Amino acid sequence: MTMLNELKSLILQNNPKADLTMLELAYDFANKAHAGQKRLDGTDYITHSLATTYTLAKMNLDMDTIIAGLLHDVPEDTAVTLDEIEKNFGRNVAKLVGGVTKLGKLKYRGLERYAENLRKMFVAMAEDVRVVIIKLADRLHNLSTLSSLPPVKQQRIARETLEIYAPIANRLGIGELKGELEDLAFRYVYPEEYAWTVKQSQTRMEDQLAYVEEIIDQLKKMLSESRVKYLSIHGRAKHLYSLYRKLQRKDMDISKVYDLVAVRIIVENVADCYHVLGLLHGKWKPLPGRIKDYIAQPKPNGYRSLHTTVFGSEGRIVEFQIRDVIMHDHAEYGIAAHWHYKEKNDTELKLPPEQLKWITELLQWQKDITDNEQYLDSLKLDIFQNRIFVFTPKGDVIDLPEDATPVDFAYYIHSDIGNHCTGARVNEKMSPLDTTLKSGDLVEIIVDKNRQGPSEDWLSFVKTNMARAHIKAYLKKRRGGLSKIFSRKSTNPS
Ligand code: MN
Repeated sequence: MTMLNELKSLILQNNPKADLTMLELAYDFANKAHAGQKRLDGTDYITHSLATTYTLAKMNLDMDTIIAGLLHDVPEDTAVTLDEIEKNFGRNVAKLVGGVTKLGKLKYRGLERYAENLRKMFVAMAEDVRVVIIKLADRLHNLSTLSSLPPVKQQRIARETLEIYAPIANRLGIGELKGELEDLAFRYVYPEEYAWTVKQSQTRMEDQLAYVEEIIDQLKKMLSESRVKYLSIHGRAKHLYSLYRKLQRKDMDISKVYDLVAVRIIVENVADCYHVLGLLHGKWKPLPGRIKDYIAQPKPNGYRSLHTTVFGSEGRIVEFQIRDVIMHDHAEYGIAAHWHYKEKNDTELKLPPEQLKWITELLQWQKDITDNEQYLDSLKLDIFQNRIFVFTPKGDVIDLPEDATPVDFAYYIHSDIGNHCTGARVNEKMSPLDTTLKSGDLVEIIVDKNRQGPSEDWLSFVKTNMARAHIKAYLKKRRGGLSKIFSRKSTNPS
């Protein structure tokens, strides 16, 4: 019972006016349904439902999601049906629970299972992202009790987490959950590397934490002298798996990782963010090329902050991350922040279309790719690899995979622009269509309406599936029915 009380006080802490009546009913309902069931670690099944829900409450999700968290395993593992859930808790809760249940049923093994799992995740995501957030919270608790499972299962669950769940959490901008999922899975999937990373970081981490404490003292003094209000200043240690990934890119040399412990400064508003940045640079010299303004240019997953790395006192290098409360909320909770604070009506709970664009596009092409290996390759390219963000001449941000070209950009804007592009200006310079774009590039596409569609060699350099699919479709149409296209054109003078 203690866990239920903890859950309730967490919810009240976030929303003092929250009505907990339904929550208590849902707890009794789930407790009765799971009565007598034990987890492999010997605990009552309800502890898993509660732990999952606790994670959702930490993310400050709406009451329907929290109740669905308590009930998420009921239809799958007990005699109680989804209909009964709907009768007792309404259509919205039932839809969420039904979504989670659908995701849970897997008939496949190996590659098939992996691909099928991903397809389902994206279908569920397009219907209601909260289903996937519940699944992520569920996975987090399953990972934390992994030691009681047989080794084969441990491996499968941990691997699946690194390959599917964590990248999805990342793509949804839920930074904290992504870090926790990865760290829990890391030790099972790469035990030696895990031990090595722990050992590497230990001594250096302690040293860096002590140093950061000193820096924070100086910083606090500086801010109060300048009368800048701050809500929090704290040192934040890098997650282990993310440290390991970074070490792989830095010749395994931990002295090249500057954000092992970063200083995070949370202030009241955007203006204060820049004010603090100015104060920092007035006191400590920034490293060239390490000032990142993710406020003016947010990351594709919505992340905003100012980052800078400076030579601190004694010339030691330290990274600062400056943000306001709202940015902080989004950095930790990503897309989940959309459901914060308020109980909304049905339509308000839907995500704005621009946040869903990549998911709906993905759904379109995943229907066409039946070969699983090809599907996974495409996904790695379009979703899971690093993304860049480039600008249209109007200043809109477009989110593309790394190494994307102006042709990818053109097709992203519109298939007509892709089909008729003849050149590109990148940062106001004429550039070949196969130029590799970089984050921050300003891209302008030159269109010739008389152009006879895309060129076949574009296929050799485009990076997105969207561009590839449009080019292929056009070429096929041209080969199959040149006459048709022309006759249509002549009857349609537009
Ligand atoms: Mn579960």
